[in-house]
Amino acid sequence: MSLAEFSLIERIRTRTHARADVLLGIGDDAALLQPRAGEQLVVTADTLNSGVHFPAETPPYDIGWKTLAVNLSDLASMGARPAWCTLALSLPDAQTDWIDAFADGFFALADEYGIVLVGGDTTRGPLSLSVTAIGQIVPGTALRRDAARGGDDVWVSGTLGDAAIALRAWQGGTLDVRSVADDAQVDDLRLRLARPTPRVALGRALVGVAHAAVDVSDGLLADLGHICDRSGVGARIDPERLPVSAAARARVGITQAREAALRGGDDYELCFTAAPSQRSAIEALSARLSLPLTRIGTIITGGGIAHGSDDDGPRGYEHFNEL
Ligand code: ADP
Ligand code: MG
Repeated sequence: MSLAEFSLIERIRTRTHARADVLLGIGDDAALLQPRAGEQLVVTADTLNSGVHFPAETPPYDIGWKTLAVNLSDLASMGARPAWCTLALSLPDAQTDWIDAFADGFFALADEYGIVLVGGDTTRGPLSLSVTAIGQIVPGTALRRDAARGGDDVWVSGTLGDAAIALRAWQGGTLDVRSVADDAQVDDLRLRLARPTPRVALGRALVGVAHAAVDVSDGLLADLGHICDRSGVGARIDPERLPVSAAARARVGITQAREAALRGGDDYELCFTAAPSQRSAIEALSARLSLPLTRIGTIITGGGIAHGSDDDGPRGYEHFNEL
């Protein structure tokens, strides 16, 4: 370990807090963690590569935020309580300003969601960030992809398509990921891409209420498709019910906004299925969390996702076999 590497790790270590379930954190060869008695561990890992998962010019604060957010989102979709994480950093050079801003974004989320950084690795190479996140859950209660049942309602949280619209605007040169946009709605879209909110409280609250859940990282059709495949069911989606934001509508119009909601990725909302008998509980949950929860369709027996007609003609429901 070089001196530069040591001082970078030190800059990160000083941001962490002691907690009773971390018996030994950053500084030894490995961490010692104390799980809650009788609970199961929920483990996930996600890597973000510069230029692939985020524009290379993304500010370090936003990179730090998103690196942890995408992992917290995976814990959320399982219904888990976040506990610990590790961070593997590959950095082209050891700039302390960059690390400090990255840590500001990373620990803003870590502290908010009670996840403690307990170790990691720091190497020189192309910019790449990899987190392993560990949560805990009561045995038998995780929200799995394979638990949807025919007749379930299909729900999504928040709004969909915003991040994809922001990404397209960046690709088209009309949105700058490096700075606050003058137009408040454009800035809403920028933040949806740069700083997604992991739906941790929702995931926890859906334990015992929802059957299956997934976080929308690759796009609704793709991710709901995972639930359908794993559960051996299909789904029918009503495109007119898809929750799209005012900012998305203003930017691209309702037709493209719905298209982005169906296919766009990177929103990190939760898509879940639940019995119709849970509707009033889910509506109460939406009010309690101040988070829109929208019923967008139904789980059906038989495969594929039917998602309505195109605006240009009454073609009925289309099936998606390429997913
Ligand atoms: P080793 O060579 O034994 O793997 P390292 O020199 O890589 O140890 O790391 C020293 C300590 O710093 C370890 O506890 C490791 O978990 C921690 N660490 C290294 N890089 C990071 C990082 N990016 N974030 C958090 N902890 C880190
Ligand atoms: Mg090491």
